[in-house]
Amino acid sequence: MKYSLILPVFNEEENIDILYKRCSQVLSKLKQEYELIFINDGSTDTTPQLLFNISKKDCRVKIINLSRNFGHQVAVTAGLEHAGSEIVAVLDADLQDPPEILPRFFKKIEEGYDVVYAIRKSRKENFLLRACYSFFYHLLRRVASIDIPLDSGDFCVLSARAVSALNSLPERNRFIRGLRSWIGFKQIGLEYERQSRHGGVSKYNFSRLMKLAFDGIFSFSFAPLQVMFYLGLLSLFISLLGIIGAVYLKFFTTAYSRVPGFATTIILVMFVGGLQLFSIGILGEYLRRVYEESKHRPQYIIESKIGFK
Ligand code: UDP
Ligand code: MG
Repeated sequence: MKYSLILPVFNEEENIDILYKRCSQVLSKLKQEYELIFINDGSTDTTPQLLFNISKKDCRVKIINLSRNFGHQVAVTAGLEHAGSEIVAVLDADLQDPPEILPRFFKKIEEGYDVVYAIRKSRKENFLLRACYSFFYHLLRRVASIDIPLDSGDFCVLSARAVSALNSLPERNRFIRGLRSWIGFKQIGLEYERQSRHGGVSKYNFSRLMKLAFDGIFSFSFAPLQVMFYLGLLSLFISLLGIIGAVYLKFFTTAYSRVPGFATTIILVMFVGGLQLFSIGILGEYLRRVYEESKHRPQYIIESKIGFK
């Protein structure tokens, strides 16, 4: 088989038919064998029926029904583990990533690249969200221990060996665009115009976006721990200065009794308390990840597979 398309879907009933049509059109023009792998991530609308109907008509359509909603990153992971072709593409099912540009990406793989990721030239989201994205990607770039390209999403095309490298990484809190950089090989980014969603609404709410951002930071950087360390050092230093000053005032001047202490004390206690809680929170984020990894739960449970041999 030449091409696999991985399409995670979660309640995308407005988009399935047109997505299938546009992907099939693009791929059939290439005159090679291909498969479309839909990962139904616990949809509760008519998405499963629509997918099933398509798969009855077209044997190139394969479906993995997960037992519940596991999240986008896990759905993509499931797809990657089931793709059986030389060239594998990952794209969103809401047509924000237009399938028409795939041939351009495939060509790069044929030229010898292993990872061809898409770079968003412009975003169609609102101003606030765009500002958050930009802040996050710049922060991640500064603190991450690997080189994660700015403004690249999960939309990408991978060679078979890049896919098997990704599949060999067992970690659970997956930030795929980070792991994709981590595996190395020859990588290249291609720019594209990210479209707005064809139908329905975004499935990433604020808390899911935050989780993804946290996964990016905490999986690829120890900078938060270092920041904690330096903040601790700084507050230690400042309090030392305070102690020296107080001792001096007490024993060598008569000014000590005139230093009003009460407001300063409360502010300092609150400051140090806040610093400690903040630090424990950061420790907790790392610890949570260690705990989750140590449980060795599978990343997803499959309810049924359709179209696989
Ligand atoms: N998705 C998924 N599981 C989820 C959330 C989203 O499989 O829990 C799919 C969704 O159907 C879409 C893709 O992941 O194909 C990207 O999601 P969405 O478009 O909602 O995210 P956004 O583009 O707004 O970041
Ligand atoms: Mg989208």
